[in-house]
Amino acid sequence: MKQSLLFVPTLKEAPKDAEVKSHKLMVRAGLIKQTAAGIYTYLPLATRVMKNIEAIIREELDARGCSEMLMPALQSRDLWEESGRWSKYGQELMRLKDRKDRDFCLGPTHEEVVTHAVRDYLNSYKKLPLALYQIQTKFRDEMRPRFGLMRGREFIMKDLYTFSESQEDLVYWYQSMKEAYTDIFKRCGLATKIVSSDTGQIGGDEADEFMVMSEVGEDTITYCTVCDYAANQEFSQLNSGDKCPVCEGLIETAKGIEVGNIFKLGTKYSESMNAYFTNRDGKKQPVIMGCYGLGISRTLMATVEQNSSEDGIVWPKELTPFDLHLIPINIKDETLSEKIDSLYKTLSLKYRVLIDDRDERAGVKFKDADLIGIPTRLILGKSLLEGSVELIDRYQNTKKMIFIDDLEDVLKSLL
Ligand code: ATP
Ligand code: MG
Repeated sequence: MKQSLLFVPTLKEAPKDAEVKSHKLMVRAGLIKQTAAGIYTYLPLATRVMKNIEAIIREELDARGCSEMLMPALQSRDLWEESGRWSKYGQELMRLKDRKDRDFCLGPTHEEVVTHAVRDYLNSYKKLPLALYQIQTKFRDEMRPRFGLMRGREFIMKDLYTFSESQEDLVYWYQSMKEAYTDIFKRCGLATKIVSSDTGQIGGDEADEFMVMSEVGEDTITYCTVCDYAANQEFSQLNSGDKCPVCEGLIETAKGIEVGNIFKLGTKYSESMNAYFTNRDGKKQPVIMGCYGLGISRTLMATVEQNSSEDGIVWPKELTPFDLHLIPINIKDETLSEKIDSLYKTLSLKYRVLIDDRDERAGVKFKDADLIGIPTRLILGKSLLEGSVELIDRYQNTKKMIFIDDLEDVLKSLL
């Protein structure tokens, strides 16, 4: 891909309202552009990274027996009246009317719609279990949209719902999704801590949150310095210096970004919305549900926060928008230009390559390359005429000259 054709509006200065590093960087690197408070356009680079995150999610979930579907964002009041949440959800729900003056909302979450989707079908235990997910835009009129993609009013979420005949089966799915999330976040270059949480608005039995430990996180986590106890402070009510409720060890607190959330919902929605099935004893029983959210746009932002310096991003291997960034500099003659072109074509057969073909000074290209953050770069200058290029490896923070003849092997070991 030619950089001149890719829309990457990099900026020298971060916008004034950007408080955290990742927000500043995402705007400066030409990843996102705000259109209204908490509402963003994802520009081509961000879209590429997001597609990579989505591919990882699909792989991990499909491998565990989940199926992808797509539900409507526009939801009728009738469904929300069935669950009782039309009045309970409060001001975060984006409400609107159609031309016939009927009430609708833009889905902040999809328990109602998914229960509606399966309830006529789930008449027998033979149809269970089911694990259904979607990747979709969610709408929440957050009181304080802020920190860029961290707390948006429109954001992208993967939401998954499981349907089980028994509590044991729910526990099985809950555990399986916990493992899936752990693997997904690891592949996204994020270390997460699993903390138990209050079930809050959704209601249910047990819940865990996946937290990225970070100073800019909005949640406070209380954790034990001795055992693996960890809970959201909203739930544990503990403070730093308190005794661990499990082992009496010392409690510490830290800030975290919640990137994912898993709930044992139980029968709240199946009872209120009439999703019953005939069990193995021939009796009618409400289906037992679980729900599992993962904020894709927030994960993107957390990834930037954790994998960057003030000067730029260093994309984790599986998320990078391109494998290789070629940066031609000081091209004065035809021969060099032809060599660069031929190298670009050869490498593009094997890798996702971005070439900075813009008519800009080397300094401008280097600064932008640092911002954009493709971890493996080749500087193509005069030395190419003698058969070598400079390789920059941002993971190791090294620069070295490589003979073109060795390039294939070197890249094979890196990419
Ligand atoms: P929070 O406590 O941050 O408001 P939540 O408990 O409301 O989150 P869920 O309803 O469980 O979140 O949504 C699942 C996931 O969606 C969250 O773990 C988070 O990653 C993401 N998410 C929730 N709200 C937002 C938002 N306003 N902007 C971006 N991502 C969000
Ligand atoms: Mg919320």
